[in-house]
Amino acid sequence: MRYGGNTCCVELRCGGHTIVLDAGTGVRALGVALERAGAGSISLLVSHTHMDHIQGFPFFAPAYNLKKTLTVYEPPGLPVPIQEALKKQTEPYYFPVPLEDLPAHMEFRSTGDHLHIGGAAISRLDLNHPGGCSGYRIEFESRVLVYLTDHEPYRRLFGDTDFSRAKDTEIRDFMRGADLVLRDAQYTVDEYDTRRGWGHGTFDDAAEDANLAEVRRMMVFHHDPDHSDDFLESCIASVQKRYKLDPARMSLAREGEELEV
Ligand SMILES: [Zn+2]
Ligand SMILES: [Zn+2]
Repeated sequence: MRYGGNTCCVELRCGGHTIVLDAGTGVRALGVALERAGAGSISLLVSHTHMDHIQGFPFFAPAYNLKKTLTVYEPPGLPVPIQEALKKQTEPYYFPVPLEDLPAHMEFRSTGDHLHIGGAAISRLDLNHPGGCSGYRIEFESRVLVYLTDHEPYRRLFGDTDFSRAKDTEIRDFMRGADLVLRDAQYTVDEYDTRRGWGHGTFDDAAEDANLAEVRRMMVFHHDPDHSDDFLESCIASVQKRYKLDPARMSLAREGEELEV
């Protein structure tokens, strides 16, 4: 009720350009707001095609606007092209309006590992998640935001090996010095034991990375749906204390919250 029950969707405004990070169920309300505000061009950057990251797209109001252009970016390594995944979830057994009947002009482009959207320079990195997932480091006017969800730290899954140490360092270097990191913290360390290999991390992983990657501000989201607001608050208070991170450096993301990076 306080932190939000929708699945992943973050709006990022860089100058006049709107970048939408993932199209989970949160994209429905965002679409209404964007239409009301008369937003111009919109780019959609998805981390991967798991249902909780694309299922809001058929309800995205700008897709029903004939005058709108939506650019949908495809990261490398997806099991199926993004266009096909979006199309499949509008097959008649799921949804009444087929993707190709949506009136907006839709363009599909590849992200590669580096791309520019408006004035933003974006780098992409493979994360550790079943079926693959991409993290994004977005730089605009000397500010850096890192979007890093659906990632299971390598040392959690594989133990303390040379491989996992090297891969975790690569992830931390990707986050290094960021002004804001939006990060998955789905489980507690105790819960993780029975969810090994599901592709998510813990509050402790996020807190440890905030320190080791010298992140200015870490906000966590993509919580386990069974976690209540009170439970989330106890989890964040615990890591703030144990990792010596004050609330300005590590906090829970809140649905609808607006921040200037
Ligand atoms: Zn996923
Ligand atoms: Zn997810």
